[in-house]
Amino acid sequence: MLDQATTQVHEHIFRTTSDGIILVDEAGIVQRINPAAAAMLAVTVDEVRHKLAKDVFYSDPGIKSLFTRDSEYTAQVRLPRRRFGLGICLITDDNRRLVIIQDITEKRELDSRRESLSHSIAHDLRNPLSAISGFAELIGKFGELSPQQQKFLTRIRQTSSKIHDMAKPLVDLAWIEAGMPLAHRPVQMSDIIDSATRELSFIAQGHKVTIATSVQNPMPMVMGDPERLKIVIYNLLHNAVIYSQEEQPVVIHAWSDEQEVFCSVADRGIGIADDELDLVFDRMYRSRDEYVREIPGGGLGLTTAKTIIERHGGDIWAASTLGEGSTFTFVMPTAQKQ
Ligand code: ADP
Repeated sequence: MLDQATTQVHEHIFRTTSDGIILVDEAGIVQRINPAAAAMLAVTVDEVRHKLAKDVFYSDPGIKSLFTRDSEYTAQVRLPRRRFGLGICLITDDNRRLVIIQDITEKRELDSRRESLSHSIAHDLRNPLSAISGFAELIGKFGELSPQQQKFLTRIRQTSSKIHDMAKPLVDLAWIEAGMPLAHRPVQMSDIIDSATRELSFIAQGHKVTIATSVQNPMPMVMGDPERLKIVIYNLLHNAVIYSQEEQPVVIHAWSDEQEVFCSVADRGIGIADDELDLVFDRMYRSRDEYVREIPGGGLGLTTAKTIIERHGGDIWAASTLGEGSTFTFVMPTAQKQ
């Protein structure tokens, strides 16, 4: 038997929680319904109590099935007043049924807004761009072009490929800034480093750069979103490669203490001037350096990396000497510390 204090706590939770709770006996008769469930289902407690649940909720097949299925079950259900719920049905040891309903209307709306945002950026931008570069290719195939026309065509191709390259970082940033929930699972930093390095290998080869990796072993896990953390490492490595002269080394190093995991990406590239060091994490900031101006980029990679790391409870910073190279470092709490 539960002691009186525990019973009182249970009773308090039952009455005040925002989740709807309905308890049904073995015969399917509603024994208890809390105020949240009554409000969500637009009924009064008296209309429902001591009645057969399947008779009371007969008009909605989704809700009715929470009371009629033989086994435990979770399903999205339509609630009155155009709201949506997540219904969970649990069967107790003595064959009673506990139905819990969470109102997920706002969460669903948020998810669909986020989805349409990234969808529209990805498609509305990429599709017309593909069309522009496709038609630019075609023009050359239909008759002689004057040198002037040829020059303009080349500019069209270069510009559309530049915008195309910007679309992915834009989507990544929009996604994370829209407050997209991050995955929260144990992540081994070395796996992410390997995967980002592999993804970058083609570009690195193009620049004749070898990426050297040095990871402490063993290394504590961090909690986080592997896909988003990969974007961070990819962006840092990508910058290290493109802002270095050919054949300069790039080194990614990861280490930790009990509390935190550190990861740094070092290059011997063009470096960053002191007065620009604080600005490089700003949205769309690109150095005034001539070398940088020649390289396509939207100035979003570091903003995205910083946003992702901060959402993981970490921090990121840069150290650099102009003309000698840069080191970008981020730190995150270990899984144990959280
Ligand atoms: P992008 O590379 O698309 O311009 P980022 O946000 O990744 O955008 O970087 C912003 C700016 O920071 C770059 O334009 C460049 O001026 C500078 N920068 C970033 N990484 C490096 C690096 N490893 N070496 C030198 N400069 C860098």
